[in-house]
Amino acid sequence: MTKWVYSFGDGSAEGEAGMKALLGGKGANLAEMANLGLPVPPGFTITTEVCAHYYANGRSFPDDLKAQVDVALKKVGASAGAGFGDKGNPLLVSVRSGARASMPGMMDTVLNLGLNDLTVEAVAGRSGDTRFAYDSYRRFIQMYANVVLGVPHDHFEEILGGYKDQHGLSLDTELAAEDWADIIARYKARVADDLDRAFPQDVNEQLWGAIGAVFSSWMNQRAITYRRLHGIPKDWGTAVNVQAMVFGNLGETSATGVAFTRNPSTGEKELYGEFLVNAQGEDVVAGIRTPQEITEKSRIASSSDKPSLERLMPAVFAEFTDYYTRLEAHYRDMQDLEFTVQEGKLWMLQTRSGKRTVKAALKVAVDMADEGLISREEAVARISADGLDQLLHPTLDPDAEREVIATGLPASPGAAVGEIVFDSDEAESLKAQDRRVILVRVETSPEDIHGMHAAAAILTTRGGMTSHAAVVARGMGRPCVSGAGTIRIDYKAGTMTAGGAVFRKGDTITIDGSSGQVLKGAVAMRQPELSGDFGTLMAWADEIRVLGVRANADTPADARAAREFGAEGIGLCRTEHMFFDEDRILAVREMILASDLEGRQRALAKLLPMQRADFTELFEIMRGLPVTIRLLDPPLHEFLPHGEEEIAEVGAAMGVAPDLIEARVNELSEFNPMLGHRGCRLAITYPEITEMQARAILEAAADAAAKTGAPVEPEIMIPLIATRAEFDFLAERIRAVAAKVAEEKGVEPVYTIGTMIELPRACLRAEEIARSAEFFSFGTNDLTQTCLGISRDDAGSFLTEYVAKGLIPVDPFVSIDEGGVGELVTIGVERGKKGRPDIKLGICGEHAGDPASVDFCHRAGLSYVSCSPYRVPIARLAAAQAAIREKDGSEQHSTD
Ligand code: PEP
Ligand code: MG
Repeated sequence: MTKWVYSFGDGSAEGEAGMKALLGGKGANLAEMANLGLPVPPGFTITTEVCAHYYANGRSFPDDLKAQVDVALKKVGASAGAGFGDKGNPLLVSVRSGARASMPGMMDTVLNLGLNDLTVEAVAGRSGDTRFAYDSYRRFIQMYANVVLGVPHDHFEEILGGYKDQHGLSLDTELAAEDWADIIARYKARVADDLDRAFPQDVNEQLWGAIGAVFSSWMNQRAITYRRLHGIPKDWGTAVNVQAMVFGNLGETSATGVAFTRNPSTGEKELYGEFLVNAQGEDVVAGIRTPQEITEKSRIASSSDKPSLERLMPAVFAEFTDYYTRLEAHYRDMQDLEFTVQEGKLWMLQTRSGKRTVKAALKVAVDMADEGLISREEAVARISADGLDQLLHPTLDPDAEREVIATGLPASPGAAVGEIVFDSDEAESLKAQDRRVILVRVETSPEDIHGMHAAAAILTTRGGMTSHAAVVARGMGRPCVSGAGTIRIDYKAGTMTAGGAVFRKGDTITIDGSSGQVLKGAVAMRQPELSGDFGTLMAWADEIRVLGVRANADTPADARAAREFGAEGIGLCRTEHMFFDEDRILAVREMILASDLEGRQRALAKLLPMQRADFTELFEIMRGLPVTIRLLDPPLHEFLPHGEEEIAEVGAAMGVAPDLIEARVNELSEFNPMLGHRGCRLAITYPEITEMQARAILEAAADAAAKTGAPVEPEIMIPLIATRAEFDFLAERIRAVAAKVAEEKGVEPVYTIGTMIELPRACLRAEEIARSAEFFSFGTNDLTQTCLGISRDDAGSFLTEYVAKGLIPVDPFVSIDEGGVGELVTIGVERGKKGRPDIKLGICGEHAGDPASVDFCHRAGLSYVSCSPYRVPIARLAAAQAAIREKDGSEQHSTD
């Protein structure tokens, strides 16, 4: 018999923390807390295997599930001293989702289940608080009818709002027991009206309805989008947790709250959290009431006039301190906790690894390694390489002028400039047009995640540090200011009023998520600080990694940035970018338009000193680090002007008849330029271009070495070869130039000649090519294009559909297609090594800055990756994580 249900509570559990795949994160951690002897309300978890069965069998449950649930429910009742549906002493339960990876707010929850017209009276009698009982019942009807029966939320809001207006009431707390009784009757009538049947009074019907709804919510649109954004597989499924209710809304000695064991924004080692007296859990995250601080220290820091938990309930606070300290030490990670105090008794409702900003993640990891709680390898493994991107981008320049129009909570750090947009769908469509937007909302809900993802930053006027907006923004790495209460938003008019001025949709503002400031216009930004915890962790990563990391850099600015970010050399200098420079394009065009060799050589002679100066500067900046320079790659027509106007302009400047230019453009134009006369093919037609470039490189190397005293050994790289013959043809000419330079300079240049491997044939014939080429650099941009037969310039129009329809997990131009392109690389590596055992092997396509692809490169046995300068730290970290994974035998996947 399959075990579908796992019980927990009363100091023991059938599950434990290691069973996340089966019990989901919440279920496994509830079991673990029970095993640790912490006060957890008794309950049980229905496994993720039931979810799989549910979807594989037309949304039906396994036959023996009901019997197992009945047994578990009895156990919960026995432990809680109550009976499910019992008219004298009813057990009330919560029914919640809980997937393997946390998906906050994406799926459904039902609270206070087990209430009906009879049990509500029993709850009133036993608690001695009729108002509380009726309030709970109306909350249950509202939640159940919405989540399980599909009655829109606003049908109930309308009734409640109408009732308040009618009786001159404004706050929920002003409503007495009889008011709620009246509202319950109205709610039930509304449900009956909407659905043509009465609200279910049978508690078992309620329970199975809720269990089904929670499993169904695994496939709701919010959850699907969240999984897509976080790479969570659909087949993981969710578990369902049924647990005895505890109440934080039983008066002034009751409360509910959430806390992080360290500060989730900064990583500081201090308890950080919020709570509300006399409230239910959802009230804290919903941001309807402004929560109170848990510790006295943060109450003082936030100058709140409401007492902290530490002051208000010292015994509870002491007990909580003991639990959170134990939980953090036990899990060896920062925890995100939920708790409820029912009439002075503390209950732990949840513990999980806390979501944090990248900055906080770095600090927590480095601190925990220093505290001896985790190893340095674990610290390195814990940082999301992709997330590091956030730190590598600018923050507000502290010296820039700021016109503050409002201040809210610093909910998620970082700064961004963008145009105001009030609607999530609009945010998404503007982002698609490459516009930078700031999503401005009163508050956000899970329906807004696509808008938040599209936005550069988020601003809300309501809600605390743990509001939906704050939690989600931190997880996504978007700057966020929440609870900026002085701002008034008018959605209909498309305006917001702040600091006495009216801002319209489309107006530019700046958000500083680190200070909570909202600023008028675009404020200047500053480059990030790459020292402190970042520097420490990167140094640890460098000790662990095996792969080298270089940068793709064509300009002195790129080369300087590359060094700053820790690149160990330049793995790709695309020389065509130097040809495009404004001050030399004329000479380039002269070369292309020349009718004979002599004319071409005259133009090339003009380009030689310019190229030599470029290379000298690059070599000087790199001071002896390896530099790979690739010979000219793109088709020549790219350098010629297009359109009548441009042609006339260039013709006038060069003194060449426009029709001559036009004729040459036509002559050079191709149907498939990316598969046409480019790369080494160009050099084979015009070897004098290669000769000029080889001379510029070798002379520059000699000049730079003489200037800096550091020897320069340039790596000259030939692009797009398919055959060894192509390579040999050009290598021979480069060597001839080198011999001439040696003679002229009186020193023997030291250099290597290698090739890009970016065509399938080059991978297949790698062995013989390696007999000639001294190094390979896999150009996986072109290799992806030619392996898949997908034009890299046209892929955008249809590949997104492939991803959206689930045909491919990710765009192969972003993350390497291991099955196809990866196999070609592996073949190229194996065969290349056969031809030349000590061959240097790199990769310089965009994939070199993508963590999953870096992991592949490590496994494939490459010597180094070369990516854009800004991604160098990401590649360094990803390379270290790949080495750790290989050692641990663990797989790469994202868990949050
Ligand atoms: C490549 O093809 O992967 C590469 C690095 O070269 P380019 O992008 O310049 O074609
Ligand atoms: Mg290429």
